This record gives sequence, C-alpha cells and structure tokens, in this order.
Amino acid sequence: MRRTLHYDAVVVGAGVAGLTAAARLAESGARVCVLAKGVGSTHLAPGTVDVLGYEPDGSEPPRRVDSPARALPAFVAERTDHPYALLGVDSIRPALEWFAERIEHGPQQGYRYLGEMERNHLLPTAVGAARPSALVPETMAAGDLRGTGPICVVGLHPLRDLWASLCAANIVRLGVEARAVEVGLDVDRPDENALGLARRFEDPGFRRTFADRLAPQLRDDERVALPAVLGVRDPHGVWSELETWLGRPVFEIPTVPPSVPGMRVSDALRAALRAAGGRLVVGAEVGGAERDGERVTALQAHTAGRDTTYAARWVVLATGGFNSGALALGSDWVVRETVLGLPVRGAPAPGARRFVPEYFGEQPMSRVGVAVDPNQRAEGLENVIVAGAALPGAEPWREGSGEGIAITSGHRAAELVRAEEGLGAAV
Ligand SMILES: Cc1cc2nc3c(=O)[nH]c(=O)nc-3n(C[C@H](O)[C@H](O)[C@H](O)COP(=O)(O)OP(=O)(O)OC[C@H]3O[C@@H](n4cnc5c(N)ncnc54)[C@H](O)[C@@H]3O)c2cc1C
Repeated sequence: MRRTLHYDAVVVGAGVAGLTAAARLAESGARVCVLAKGVGSTHLAPGTVDVLGYEPDGSEPPRRVDSPARALPAFVAERTDHPYALLGVDSIRPALEWFAERIEHGPQQGYRYLGEMERNHLLPTAVGAARPSALVPETMAAGDLRGTGPICVVGLHPLRDLWASLCAANIVRLGVEARAVEVGLDVDRPDENALGLARRFEDPGFRRTFADRLAPQLRDDERVALPAVLGVRDPHGVWSELETWLGRPVFEIPTVPPSVPGMRVSDALRAALRAAGGRLVVGAEVGGAERDGERVTALQAHTAGRDTTYAARWVVLATGGFNSGALALGSDWVVRETVLGLPVRGAPAPGARRFVPEYFGEQPMSRVGVAVDPNQRAEGLENVIVAGAALPGAEPWREGSGEGIAITSGHRAAELVRAEEGLGAAV
C-alpha cells in the first residue's frame, strides 16, 4: 500500500538551489522534506560561487566581469527575462551572506568562503585558464592570478586530473610566472581520484610525507597550487597545516569531477537542513503530482522498495535543467519538463537556430526553463515555486552565473513561502 507523509513544504532537488531553499525554510520553522533522485551538480561543478563572470555581449570571447555588483544593473536592464531580473539584484547579497554563514558554521570547522560581489577573484582552472568568481573557498583564494608571487603547480602522481605542466604553461601565457613539479604519493590504487586523495590528505602522516617530498623542490618566493584534494571533512585543517609546514600560500585548483569542494558545499547545506529539523531523501524520484485546481496537493515519489505520496502545502521545484534530466528535448524538437509536466519558456521558436557548433558559443537552447511568474511560481500553479537551473533565461556556463542564481533563487523561494505562511524570521 502507498503511504502518505505530510509536510509544510517539499523541495524537489538536492543541488545548491534545493538545499538552500530547504535549509532556509526549515530554519524558519517549516516542516520540510527534500526529495532527490540523486545528488546535484555540486558533485561536478568547481564549488566556487560564480555570480556573474562574463557579459555575453556578442563579442568572442564574452567580456569578463571584474565587479558583479557594478555590472549587474545594466546586465538585467538589457535582459529582462534573465533570472537575476526576476529575482532582483538586491536579493543576491543577502542570499550570498546566508550561504557564507552556513559554510562558516557548518561541519567543516574553520572552513570559510571569501569574497564579495564588488570584485571577482580570478582563479586558474585545471588547464591554466583564468576564471572569474565572486565567492571562493579560502583554500582557493591565494590562487588569484592578480596576486603576488610566481606559482608552482604541483602534479600529484597518480592523480590524472590535473596535468601540472599544461596548467603551468597556460598560466605563463596569461603573464604570470609559473612552473610545474610532480610529487609521487604513497597510494595503493593506480586510478585514485580526487575524492580518494582528499580522504588520504586528512591523515596527518600522509600529508606530512607529502610536504616533506614537496618542500625541497620549492623556490623561496613561490605559492603552491594543488589539485582540489585537501580534505572533505576538514579542509581548513589540511590546508592551513600545509601552509604552515611549507611556509607559503597554498591553494587548490578545481579538477574534473568528482568535485571535492562541491561535496563540501553539499555537506554543509545538508548539515544546516538537518540541524533545523529538515529531512532529505536521496534516491526518491518524483514522477507525478495530485492537484486540486491550481494547487499541487501531493507529489508521488518512487524510492527503492516502495512508492510514497508526499502531501505538502508548498512545493519548491529545484530540479535543474537538461543536465539532471528535468528538461528533455524530444525527437519532435519539443522541450518537455519531465517531473510535473509543466509549461516551459525560452525555447527557440520553430525554425530558429537551436544550437551553435562552438561549445562555449551562445546556445539558444540553454535558456529554456520552467515558465514562471514574477514570484517564481510555475505558470498556472499557486503553490509550486521554481528555483535554480530550472528557471528560464540564463546561460550559466557562458555567464558564470550558475551558483549565484541557484543560491539567490533558492533563498528567495524560501522567503516567498515564509511570507505566505507567516513563518518566523529564519535564525
Ligand atoms: C560539470 C559542471 C560544471 C559547472 N561549472 C559551472 C561553473 O564553473 N560556473 C557556473 O556558474 N556554473 C557552473 N555549473 C552550473 C551550476 O553548477 C548549476 O547551474 C547549478 O549548480 C544548478 O543548481 P540546481 O540546484 O539548480 O540544480 P542541480 O544541481 O542540477 O540539482 C538538480 C537536483 O534535482 C534532482 N532531480 C532532477 N529530477 C528529479 C526528479 N524527477 N525527482 C527527484 N529529483 C530530481 C537531481 O537529482 C538533483 O538533486 C556547472 C555545472 C556542471 C554540471
């Protein structure tokens, strides 16, 4: 028999948008449950909070943004269908502050995010390109390419996800002095990935041996770049100890998935949700809803073993886009919202260009999302609020805006429900 559970709000999706909305709502006193078929793009994306990195203005490559705070008013004035125009530029800052506080008071003691909307950091990627980002983990901040000191990029053998010599050579092309060295690690698995190494670095003996092997190879004035593997549970401890032992700035460069810094974010937001009494069910795929007129009254979720009905007064839909399967493009070229069958907006008109051959070119199809009203409500539904990459109008990869939109829209979704329900101010 199908069982029914009752909540004030059910959030669908455990990416940054869903976890932000859920934790914030739970902190306000709502009974919240998050249903997710899997983890979010946290486990893939670099773990930085990109608010606005580029202004796609027709130029190639798009113009880099130094200050999101300065660029955003004109950006939204020109793009009235963009999520930031919908959310309001003023709602970004409080959402980022909320996020930074949850990380600071989260389970990774001492770990912080640094930065502000006034100025983007300019961090090297794993291939040595420059990437602008507003809020970054403290473990990455010393990598700012405008900072002082040459960079020594350290390859960790056998990790294959950061090719140190390629990364250093490309950093040199950006006008920053850099070189590469390689350090062999004592690991049994020849295919060890970033997560496996992050766990190993939490062992003080392991990192001491690593520091002892690296130290003699360093020049006096160099800062040290490492792949982002400096611990999942205690990144602050691992990173600060290495800085002390090596006597110089140390910073992480995000690698290909799995993303250790992204997992730290996921862990911190989950901890905030749990601390506020919220529930998270991973492995629950939502595949339908019960409706009463313009209200969704319950969601149907399929989990291993049994199907469950989740009755709720509010639904926050934070299911992502094409990446997560929340949107799908049929062979008839029609985009469908796969979770609740909601209307979509932003799809190129029939006959219009849908894709361009350049990978990072302006991809018209990437702007599709669930059609919403100014209060993020799904078109035609009073109590379904949409957040994150499910919103239409953005090109997160090209703009460098993905996590900024996810945090701001998740935070605002919670505020909208809180106001409607007359819930208390969040702690
Ligand atoms: C590899 C990668 C790199 C990226 N790099 C950058 C970057 O450098 N800069 C930038 O700005 N942005 C980047 N992004 C984009 C950014 O990460 C996303 O825009 C943002 O994280 C979206 O968060 P979200 O919470 O809206 O969705 P997601 O993180 O996609 O989460 C969606 C959630 O919904 C769940 N879900 C989907 N369907 C269902 C269903 N039927 N039932 C239950 N649950 C469901 C999923 O399991 C998941 O938990 C990157 C994304 C990826 C994948």
